[in-house]
Order: sequence, then C-alpha cells, then structure tokens
Amino acid sequence: MSGKYGKQTWHLIDRGHRGRNAGSSRVVSIDGQEKAESVTLEGGKSISADMVLVSIGARPSVDLAKAAGLRITDKGSIWVDDYMRTSADDIFAVGDCALKRDFFTRREVPVWLTSTATAEARNAGTNLYGIRVMNQIQGTISAFSTKIGNVSFASTGMTFRTCQKEGFRNVSATCEAPDRHPGTLPDAHKLKVKLVFADRSGILLGGQISGSPSAGELINTVALAIQKKVTVRELGMMQIATHPMLTSAPTVHPLVNAAHQALAKMRASHK
Ligand SMILES: Cc1cc2nc3c(=O)[nH]c(=O)nc-3n(C[C@H](O)[C@H](O)[C@H](O)COP(=O)(O)OP(=O)(O)OC[C@H]3O[C@@H](n4cnc5c(N)ncnc54)[C@H](O)[C@@H]3O)c2cc1C
Repeated sequence: MSGKYGKQTWHLIDRGHRGRNAGSSRVVSIDGQEKAESVTLEGGKSISADMVLVSIGARPSVDLAKAAGLRITDKGSIWVDDYMRTSADDIFAVGDCALKRDFFTRREVPVWLTSTATAEARNAGTNLYGIRVMNQIQGTISAFSTKIGNVSFASTGMTFRTCQKEGFRNVSATCEAPDRHPGTLPDAHKLKVKLVFADRSGILLGGQISGSPSAGELINTVALAIQKKVTVRELGMMQIATHPMLTSAPTVHPLVNAAHQALAKMRASHK
C-alpha cells in the first residue's frame, strides 16, 4: 500500500497481513548515509524513504509471573482485577504485562501505553493496603497522542470504525477551526476534532484530534469526559477558556461545535 501525506510519499510494508503481499515484502535492510534513505526488500527491490517507522508488535513479558504461578490470560497477560490484584494474595501487576480491559466492550485489548500504566500504578498504590478508592479505573480508554512532522494527532475511546465493528450505534461529527483567533495570527494551526457519541444516550464514546499541537492536551479533556460519561448536551454546554494567542475563538471552538453538530444530527434522525 502507498500514498501521499503532504510532500511525503509513504509505503506500508505489511509482513504479517495475509493479503496479496503476504510473504513477498520482507525487509532485508534499512539503508542510508547520515539517516534512513531507503528500505531494501527481499528480492532486491529498494524503496526510497524520508523516514522509516518500525512497527513490529510486542507481547507482555510474563515469565516471572508464570514462575510465580500467577493466572495468565488466553492472550498472554497477567490476569488482574479492577484493583490490579493478581490471582495470588499480595501480588499486584500494572503496566504492559497486566491484563487490559476495554472501557466500553470489557474485552481484553492489547493497549500498552504509559498513560494507562501510570494510572494503573496510582490505582494499585492507592489500594495496596486495603481498598480505599473503589472502581476508579473501569478499563482502558486508549488515550494517546503523537506528532509526525508538523502535524499532531491524538485519539481516545472509540473511533467511528471501532463503533461499527463492535456494533455500537453512534453519531459522529467533525469540526475544524484555527487554534488562534484570528486564524491569520502567526503560528496558527488548523485544529480538527471528530467526536463520536452513542446515538440514543448521547454519551461520548470517543474523539480524534489532529493538526494543532494543542491536540495533545485537548484530547485529555475528551479522555476525562469519556471516563465521566459526559453526554453530547453537557459537552455542548461546556464553559471554555479562550485567548487569541492560545485557543480557537469561542464561537468556533471545534470541541464544543462538534458536540453541537452531533446533537443536531441526533435531533434530525429522531424526528
Ligand atoms: C518506541 C516506543 C514509544 C512509545 N511511546 C509512547 C508514548 O508516546 N505514549 C505512551 O503512552 N506510551 C508509549 N509507549 C509505550 C510505553 O513505553 C509503555 O506502555 C510503558 O513503558 C509501559 O510501562 P511498564 O512499566 O509496564 O513497562 P516498561 O517500561 O517496559 O518497564 C518494565 C521494566 O521491567 C524490567 N524487567 C522486565 N523483566 C524483569 C525481571 N524479570 N526482573 C526485573 N526487571 C524486569 C524491564 O527491564 C523494564 O525496565 C512507547 C513504547 C515504545 C516501545
């Protein structure tokens, strides 16, 4: 698979997928002088590259847990309950090695993030000597952010596609605005927000944000809203701080306006 992002051309070399290219595109070497410039595949084909991302997967390291006789899940993680307690008294597990339950589906999911690991560590630490704070972590909401070139990306909760896959009826809306006002200010970026809501209850299921560096913090607002089961109406009424040099204009704030657009769609579909 290949495509273009801005001026950069990208190729996806998919070794694990059982599609047309299965078995035909093993990477032999990553080549270049001062930086990666190309990738050579088995068979000699060379693909030029501006950068190379290596995504080869990972699996929890549970040898020590197995040796200790702890329960291991079918997918190879250390089983834990909502307080990070393993199957053995007085042994806790947190982080990539410990079972992750999806916040919405409750299924085991391979979400291995520092953000999740540190929240789990706070949960375990708080309840280490007896349950003090009940059921505060109800599964992972997969909150993450990244930056490629000058473009930031962030996501949490369900995407439109995962809703479709899991059978969650949903309504989504996307809004875009400059992250400064007026948008002609120097250093202004586009800020694009997509929100996904459950179509009857209006509860926020997920959000994806791209463009502006403020995506990295704005996604944390969305993450808390998901954990608190905020509804489309509540998000649409959110009171926000704005400043020309720091945020979008309050009249076009993409987080608030995406909620309003989703609400309008819900109203239209429930007439
Ligand atoms: C390249 C990369 C980029 C990432 N970027 C992000 C990001 O931007 N945001 C994000 O949220 N997450 C990111 N992650 C994921 C994140 O790093 C992990 O989710 C996080 O480190 C998990 O923390 P952990 O404590 O469970 O495991 P680790 O950080 O792996 O720590 C486990 C430690 O245990 C030690 N250890 C293992 N076995 C034993 C043993 N038998 N005895 C003693 N010590 C042992 C290991 O040496 C290691 O130091 C990234 C991961 C990678 C690989």
